Amino acid sequence: MKIMKRIEAACAKTDRNPAEILLLAVTKTRSIEEINLALKAGISIIGENKVQEAEAKIPYLQENYKQFHFIGHLQSNKVKKLMQLKPDLIHSIDSFSTLKKINQLAIENGITVNVLIQVNTSGEESKFGIQPDITESFILRAKTLANIRILGLMTIGMFTSDQAKIRKCFRKLHEIFLNMKKLKQANCEMKFLSMGMSGDYEIAIEEGANILRIGSALFGPRVN
Ligand SMILES: *Cc1c(COP(=O)(O)O)cnc(C)c1O
Repeated sequence: MKIMKRIEAACAKTDRNPAEILLLAVTKTRSIEEINLALKAGISIIGENKVQEAEAKIPYLQENYKQFHFIGHLQSNKVKKLMQLKPDLIHSIDSFSTLKKINQLAIENGITVNVLIQVNTSGEESKFGIQPDITESFILRAKTLANIRILGLMTIGMFTSDQAKIRKCFRKLHEIFLNMKKLKQANCEMKFLSMGMSGDYEIAIEEGANILRIGSALFGPRVN
C-alpha cells in the first residue's frame, strides 16, 4: 500500500515509530463490497461519520474488522443506535449532554465506552468541536461519568491549502494533549491524538498524531 510508505517516510523524518500510528480507514460513502475488499487487503480499523449509514453497513460486512470507530458529529437522539453498533472508539464528543447520555446507556448495558474529545482548533464556524480553552474544564466535568473512558483528543485541520495554518491546528491540539496528560483523573488517560486526513496526514504525523483518519487517499475520490 502506497500510503504505508508515505506514513513510514513521514515517521522517519521526525524519528517516530510507524508501529505506534493507527491507520483508520474512513469508509463513509463506500459500499459494503468496497469495505470488504479493503478489509481483505489488510485494513483493520474502519470509521464512519453518520449513524444511519453505519447501521446499514457495519453489521452486514462479511470480512472481520478489528475495530469500528465513529468519527462524525453525534446527535443525542442517535446515541442509542450508535451504541448498538458497539463502537470501539467515538472520536467526536463535542457536547456534555451527549456524553452524559452515552454514560447512562453504558451503565444500563454494563459496558464502558471509549471516547475522544473533539476540539475545534481552526476556529472555523463550520467545524464541530469544543473551544480549545475549555478542554480541561470539559474533561474535569466528565469526572463522575464512571462508564466513560476519555482516551484522547481529535481535531480536523483547517480547510485551506496553507500548510502553515494546518500545522498550527495540529500543533495546538498536541500542546493541549500534553497538558491534559498531567490531569490525574480515573476515567481519563490521554493516549490517542486523532488528526490528519488524506490531504494533511503527513503534517499530522510530524505534529504527533497517532490515529490518522484517511478516506479518499485509500479509496479514491468521493463522488457525494
Ligand atoms: C471524511 C472524514 C475523514 C477522511 O477524509 P479524507 O479527506 O477522505 O481522507 C476524516 N475525518 C472525518 C471526521 C471525516 O468526516
